[in-house]
Amino acid sequence: MAADAPDVGAWLAKLGACWDEPALAARLHVAPSRRMTRTLGCYDLRRREIRIAAWLLEAPSSRDDLRREVLCHEAAHAVVHERHGEAARPHGAEWRALMRRAGYAPRVRIPGIDAGEAARRAGRAFEHRCPVCDKARILSSRQRRLRCRACVESGRSGELAIALLS
Ligand SMILES: [Zn+2]
Ligand SMILES: [Zn+2]
Repeated sequence: MAADAPDVGAWLAKLGACWDEPALAARLHVAPSRRMTRTLGCYDLRRREIRIAAWLLEAPSSRDDLRREVLCHEAAHAVVHERHGEAARPHGAEWRALMRRAGYAPRVRIPGIDAGEAARRAGRAFEHRCPVCDKARILSSRQRRLRCRACVESGRSGELAIALLS
């Protein structure tokens, strides 16, 4: 369980109660994935682990709705696999029934969410630091042409050192 993620344990316990799986929260391991940039979550059958894109798992509570739905989606995969093994299709009738019981439309994609774009916005920050003045700006993308204006004005190159934060 990712201890710092808001309400993950409580939410899994609620889902467990709703699905008659009282031990669900204790059984499932939830881990953040920092490499996950195109999807929001996945369930690793072999390791019995839910992985959620780190930016989403660690997002502030304004993202609770999305975080809960993605956790529900993956937890339902876990329950279907435990109950039916390979016999059930990934988003088949069993999975859809669990989603409905938890109060969700059983949708595979969430409209309006571009996981890649959200990850870029939430998870990537580039520090542009002038090695001469030690002034830094944090930008969401690498700006190689950006120069330190004060340095350029005083006749230096103004080149910045760029570092990916987090
Ligand atoms: Zn799925
Ligand atoms: Zn400078």
